[in-house]
Amino acid sequence: LSDSRLEENEVKELNQISVSYNKMLERLSEAFDVQRQFTANAAHELRTPLSLMQVQLDLYHSSQHKHNDECTEQTITMVMEQNEKLSKMIKTLLDMSELQSVERDDIIMVDALVEEVIADLEPLAIEKNIRLIGNCRNANMQGSDILIYRVVYNLVENAIKYNHSGGQVTVTSYQKDKNVYLSVEDTGSGIPRELKERVFEPFFRVDKSRSRELGGVGLGLALVHEIVRAHDGSITVKDNPSGGTIFEVVLPQHLQSLSGK
Ligand code: ADP
Repeated sequence: LSDSRLEENEVKELNQISVSYNKMLERLSEAFDVQRQFTANAAHELRTPLSLMQVQLDLYHSSQHKHNDECTEQTITMVMEQNEKLSKMIKTLLDMSELQSVERDDIIMVDALVEEVIADLEPLAIEKNIRLIGNCRNANMQGSDILIYRVVYNLVENAIKYNHSGGQVTVTSYQKDKNVYLSVEDTGSGIPRELKERVFEPFFRVDKSRSRELGGVGLGLALVHEIVRAHDGSITVKDNPSGGTIFEVVLPQHLQSLSGK
């Protein structure tokens, strides 16, 4: 009797191991799928500016006007634009891959950081005729100040870029219950409900041609998402009741992963 009970227990244990092993394999396979999709998208997106440069250079090479200053100037300008875009994409991809190794133990005065972003983006806001408002209460947290600056900068830059002339962007930050709350609210074009979650996917753009026109490559929010995750935080997006979009970020003031230090 005791032998059969022993066997029964062993079978149960083996079953449990097999279930958790299968779950692990499933998760690994999902992770590989995401990685595969990311690589395919990255290759596709990197190829676009390269192809455009090639076309421009081929056209120039075969042109009868290649000794004409205007033609030369035009070709150089187009190639420089595409080259800049390519560099921007590669830099963001590198930043994303190096996130985990970045030090995250600066003491960040979030209100001062937000004011800095607002000052840095004021010229863009003036150019687009957007009113930029900072509504920041005292808030501080532990993390990487360079990366948190990127989060705020990318969100505010998008809120200006995807806004209408005469629109408004409001940045709010405060601390409560050991968290920092940050929101960026705009009066812009808004994001269709079914696409809201997808805006954090690398290379995803609601309107590809509008984004391209504005110099976007679809990596800004993916980077923001990864930085927030690397700080144990969360980010959500919702409709602004008065039209436009609100991005909300919650970040713990103290990182769990650093609390043992
Ligand atoms: P991009 O380089 O195209 O701006 P992002 O990753 O920053 O890439 O954003 C992804 C897409 O999400 C954008 O192309 C745009 O369609 C949409 N988006 C981002 N922020 C906003 C916003 N504040 N209002 C409306 N749409 C936005």
